Amino acid sequence: MGRPGYRQGPQPPRQQRGGCGAGLIIAIIAIVGYIGSSQKNSVTGETQRVNLSPQQEVALGLQAAPEMAAQYGGTVQSGPDAERVKEVGYILVHNTMAKDAPYEFDFHLLADTKTVNAFALPGGQIFITRALYSQLQSEGQLAGVLAHEVGHVIERHGAEHMAKQQLTQGLTTAVATASDNPNSAVLAQAIGSMLNMKYGREDELESDEWGVQLAAEAGYDPRAMIGVMQILEKATGGSRQPEFMSTHPNPGNRIEHIKTNIEQHFPNGVPPGLRP
Ligand SMILES: [Zn+2]
Repeated sequence: MGRPGYRQGPQPPRQQRGGCGAGLIIAIIAIVGYIGSSQKNSVTGETQRVNLSPQQEVALGLQAAPEMAAQYGGTVQSGPDAERVKEVGYILVHNTMAKDAPYEFDFHLLADTKTVNAFALPGGQIFITRALYSQLQSEGQLAGVLAHEVGHVIERHGAEHMAKQQLTQGLTTAVATASDNPNSAVLAQAIGSMLNMKYGREDELESDEWGVQLAAEAGYDPRAMIGVMQILEKATGGSRQPEFMSTHPNPGNRIEHIKTNIEQHFPNGVPPGLRP
């Protein structure tokens, strides 16, 4: 029985089922299809305990991005601020060694005006809330925040975190035993874990160092990062602890580390002409 007006005849090409089709399936097949333990990081040369390939990180990050954005009021799709975030991100990636990383970087402004935060998903999806963005005083500060997040991606902190939690192993088992409806609950768990991920102190210091290096390489004054930390410290004085602080610990000590990074990077002082 066709619907009224539905012309019988050759079937049209089969539509993809459901809204969460290809990307999800690809992500899961990718995860199931690969079980490894240590890999050499193609950018840093460091050997790491991860069990996702860079391509899997990209797939999973893209899968999680809409849900992540939804928790912060969604992405700001247009307008000068959203464009500026993308533009500064573009400058950071295309003028530094980040361009050689096997990731698909993209930079998003989130509509949330209350939560002071910035974060990165594995594979290169990077976010900053309007609450943090609106407190920044210069493009160099924005570059510092985004470069720090690029650091998390390059260092594969998310993938390391997931390997540590044996989350990918759980995913593999669950997917294998629920072949009929392999995705939603399990992937939701993986995404949930990504959304609530808290990096360790070492990860933060490592990313701060990337923040200094990439921002400077892209033509921004790395000292702007110190201003960012001061903004975050000040925000802590308010009634509500900014979320950036719980996911990015100890800004006080981080300022000292950032200063040391800058001295190491520029033993003769920061050159003139870098954008503040
Ligand atoms: Zn961080």
